[in-house]
Amino acid sequence: MRIGLLGGTFDPIHLAHLRIAEEVREELALSEVWFIPAGVPPHKRAEPHLPFEERLRLVELAVKDHPAFRALDLEGRRPGPSYTVDTLKELRQRHPQHEFFFILGLDAFLEIETWYQYPRIPELARLVVVSRGEFPLEKARIRARELFPEKEILFLSVTRLDISSTDIRRRLKAGLSVRYLVPEPVFEALKNFRVIIENDAPGRD
Ligand code: ATP
Ligand code: MG
Repeated sequence: MRIGLLGGTFDPIHLAHLRIAEEVREELALSEVWFIPAGVPPHKRAEPHLPFEERLRLVELAVKDHPAFRALDLEGRRPGPSYTVDTLKELRQRHPQHEFFFILGLDAFLEIETWYQYPRIPELARLVVVSRGEFPLEKARIRARELFPEKEILFLSVTRLDISSTDIRRRLKAGLSVRYLVPEPVFEALKNFRVIIENDAPGRD
């Protein structure tokens, strides 16, 4: 089977994550896309704002109605920082029969040099870079030729949705709605997290 892999902090998962998975799935005729929330993301300076178990739970809620989408918990089960290289090695070992496509947004691709053992990544899975925001994909093509001259990397222009987890966290903190930025079940679940935040607020009786 041809399997797409979408790694991320998913803090929290949002509709652009699901949409890029869906567009890449169709375009590359993938059998499935596996969503992989990061345990301790090594290249994020600050800690994620939701613990692993909650980010995983939200990913599970987001993908449960799509027959070709799955949530994987392997990065949370491995102790220490979760490196993409280790995840890809583990998946290759466990599923030698599958062909893997590692999907990442343009912003993430432009930082790939900072990732642990990054030259190994395109040896373990075919890289698929999707457009994000206003940055031209051409920039990524040039970078790819410099970084991985031997490898064939795929570039896909996807529907532009300017949604980010950072913006969602900002809205949640400000008590603003995130409805229609995240799938409905995720919106519902986040309400409970918000209750926790609100209950923590000082000045209540
Ligand atoms: P944060 O703001 O916390 O960094 P994020 O919205 O970037 O969150 P991540 O979990 O960091 O979400 O992203 C996981 C993957 O999905 C990355 O490869 C990222 O580039 C890609 N991605 C996230 N949002 C979009 C988007 N709106 N369009 C295209 N790609 C996206
Ligand atoms: Mg990000």
